[in-house]
Amino acid sequence: MPGTLARRFANLAFGGRCFLCRGAAGAVLCAECDADLPRLVGPLCPRCALAAPAGEVCGRCLAHPPAYDATVAALGYEFPADTLVQALKFRGELALAPLLGALLAARLPRAAPVDCVLPVPLAAARLRARGFNQAMEIARHVARATGSRLEPALAERSRDTAAQVDLPHDARARNVRGAFRCARALEGAAVAVVDDVMTTGATLDELAGTLKRAGAARVVNWVVARTPAPADA
Ligand SMILES: [Zn+2]
Ligand SMILES: [Zn+2]
Repeated sequence: MPGTLARRFANLAFGGRCFLCRGAAGAVLCAECDADLPRLVGPLCPRCALAAPAGEVCGRCLAHPPAYDATVAALGYEFPADTLVQALKFRGELALAPLLGALLAARLPRAAPVDCVLPVPLAAARLRARGFNQAMEIARHVARATGSRLEPALAERSRDTAAQVDLPHDARARNVRGAFRCARALEGAAVAVVDDVMTTGATLDELAGTLKRAGAARVVNWVVARTPAPADA
């Protein structure tokens, strides 16, 4: 079982200690820390994965329908999920990717298979600087766990953009406009886009729009962690 093996290696990487509390653990996290993860519980908007009464499409998605059709998120982006996501992205703790991928895969509906899985691409310069794409590291495990085809070259980031995290929320859509290019015609395909964190959704909206213009019939976001709705909403 590759998943089990990956987790065993991850465990070795952290010396048999829980990554979060450093207590003895048979996996990346001890049972207590695993149980304490901020798993997202409903009701959620099926389109953007923000809290929504009765689990119906939220007012914001109705008023400004995003290009993506659905979003599945495993965790709320709060402690300690943010610690895990940031350790992977900024400290290169690649051994966390199997855990994050497994948490995400566990949330995915079995009844809705996709034709391919696309990690949100990084611009070439950023990929060179970081040495890896955290979305790719997560997507690799999610694709394996779900038996889906991983297609990382399906889209590319055609220009580098300012890091979204450095921008106010209302500037993020403008920042990513035209940022992606799709490599081939998609002709009715269902595409799952994998990312580590979804904040405003501007990047995922732009990428979904690009995939739809290339012919994708359905684009779903699979994200590890979701920030709550901004207070000004
Ligand atoms: Zn622990
Ligand atoms: Zn929504």
